[in-house]
Amino acid sequence: MQNNIQNNLISWYQSNHRQFPWRETKNPYYIWISEIMLQQTTTEAVIPYYKRFIQTFDTIDKLADASLEEVYKLWEGLGYYRRAKHIHETAQIICTQYHGIFPITYQEILKLKGIGPYTAGAICSIAYGLPTPAIDGNVLRIISRLYALTENIALPKAQKNIFNIVNELLDGYDSSAFNQGLMDLGATICRPFNPHCEICPIASFCQAKKTGQQKVLPISIKNIKHKEINYITGIITYQDQYIMIQNPAGLLENLYGFIQYEIESPYRFIEEFEKQYHLSLSLVSYHGQVKHVFTHRTWHMHIYHFSINEPFGSLYSLDDISQLPVSTAHLKVLKHYLKTMK
Ligand code: SF4
Repeated sequence: MQNNIQNNLISWYQSNHRQFPWRETKNPYYIWISEIMLQQTTTEAVIPYYKRFIQTFDTIDKLADASLEEVYKLWEGLGYYRRAKHIHETAQIICTQYHGIFPITYQEILKLKGIGPYTAGAICSIAYGLPTPAIDGNVLRIISRLYALTENIALPKAQKNIFNIVNELLDGYDSSAFNQGLMDLGATICRPFNPHCEICPIASFCQAKKTGQQKVLPISIKNIKHKEINYITGIITYQDQYIMIQNPAGLLENLYGFIQYEIESPYRFIEEFEKQYHLSLSLVSYHGQVKHVFTHRTWHMHIYHFSINEPFGSLYSLDDISQLPVSTAHLKVLKHYLKTMK
């Protein structure tokens, strides 16, 4: 078998995939129920609900004939009850418009209530083996890293690009195993923080790993809204010391904080920093984001770790920082950063 991304991922999935009850079936109705339950809910929490639901309503007809109260009762504790309402309504539509048979094309499935492109892609590939991408946050992250894409994945243009890449990768391969392989890879190995590249089945193809950007990518920064400010906040270290600067004026006058710029890319941060401080900076890793709400504005601070390899005037150890007057916003940043370093 040729050594490529698809074959490596598929054969890894076949020998290592996580066992779930919804993976023991190709019934599109059961897969649909599991995918809806899995929206905003963890796999562990879903298992008992899925089993009870499928035992009670083993066919779409039974679900359509049930009262909404009966459906809600089985959903109790799973949250987001609109999902249960949509499932019930959709089951009734399938019974009246499709004679109780789950639709078989991507376009028809996409028209059903509560089903978006990800869910339609997952159902079509898992139940019918159709070559339909199922793009969620995990896939956006993995593909960004695999191809070292530096576009902001919060933007539709970048998402479309990733959809096209997955579409091409799927061509001629087992789409069910490929899509589920990406789901499992994102959940267990190519995780948001500290990916386990050493055991990744597609590591030899990964451009982020090759270029040392696996802890930086993907870049995911939501559009700037009115009074909502996005910053790249830099945890800049030299050995075990941190750069903290005292705010000369403005909102946090005299308080210490990390250097941050209102921009949308860590690479622009490097340019700004080097222009301002004439010191070169290396990008090390991404550490998620922290929000801080002031009375008249909200800061969204996207935390990146950078390093310098020569001393800088404003360096402080963690002990020093505990003695400095630091803004609450940046204390939150530091706490979050240290937590993600564990
Ligand atoms: S090598 Fe690392 S960063 Fe690349 S896909 Fe695998 S786990 Fe993700």
